[in-house]
Amino acid sequence: GILTIGVTGGIGSGKTTVCRFFEELGAKVIYADDLAKRIMEEDENLKKKIKKIFGEEAYIGGKLNRKFIADIIFSDETKKSKLESLVHPAVIREIISEFKKIAREKSYDFVIVEAALIFESGFDSELDYIIVVDADEEVKIKRIMERDNCSREEVLNRMKMQMDPAKKRELADIFIQNDGDIETLRNKVKFLYSLFQKISKLTGD
Ligand code: ATP
Repeated sequence: GILTIGVTGGIGSGKTTVCRFFEELGAKVIYADDLAKRIMEEDENLKKKIKKIFGEEAYIGGKLNRKFIADIIFSDETKKSKLESLVHPAVIREIISEFKKIAREKSYDFVIVEAALIFESGFDSELDYIIVVDADEEVKIKRIMERDNCSREEVLNRMKMQMDPAKKRELADIFIQNDGDIETLRNKVKFLYSLFQKISKLTGD
C-alpha cells in the first residue's frame, strides 16, 4: 500500500491551509469535500436518491444546490444522516481507489486526505496517521468571520454542529495548535512533510 495521512479539524482550525502547504511542498492532497461534490453531481444513481430526500430543488441545472441542502440539514437531523449514509461510503470508496492508483503508479511516497468528517464517517480506520488541527476558539471565530464575512453568531452556530474539538484532539496521532502566525504553521507542515518522507522510506510503503 501507500502511506496515508488524514488532516482534519473543526471550522476555522486551518486544515485547508495545512493541506495547501503540503501541496506546495509537492505532496499529493485529496480534498474529500471536492470529491463529495463531484460524486453528488456526476453519479446519476446517487443524484436520484438525493432528489428523493430533498426534492428536485436539490439541483439547479445539474449543479448541486449546496445552500438549499445546507439549510435543510442544519435543522433536520434525519435528512442529514440519510444524506451522510449515502455520500460518505461513496466518497470513501473513491478515495481508496485513488490510494490504490497512486500505490500502483508509485507517483507519490505518501498521500494526504483533507476531510472535515474523518472520525464521524469512520474513515479513520483507512488511514495510517491522522493530523488534527485546532486553534483557540476566539482565534477561530475571528478568522472565520473575516474569511466568510459573517457574524459571530453564525460561526458559533456552525461550531455547535461539529464534534467537540477536545474529542478530536484525543483521537489524533499528531496535533497542530494553529494559534501562531502563518509562517509558524508553514514550518510545522515542513517538518511533518520531511517526517512522512522518512517514514515512507523506512516502511517501504
Ligand atoms: P473550514 O472548515 O471552515 O473550511 P479550515 O479548517 O479549512 O476551515 P482554513 O480555511 O484553512 O480553515 O483557515 C481559516 C481561515 O484562517 C482562512 O482564511 C486562513 O487563511 C486563516 N488562517 C489559517 N491559519 C492561519 C494562521 N496561522 N494565521 C493567520 N490566518 C490563518
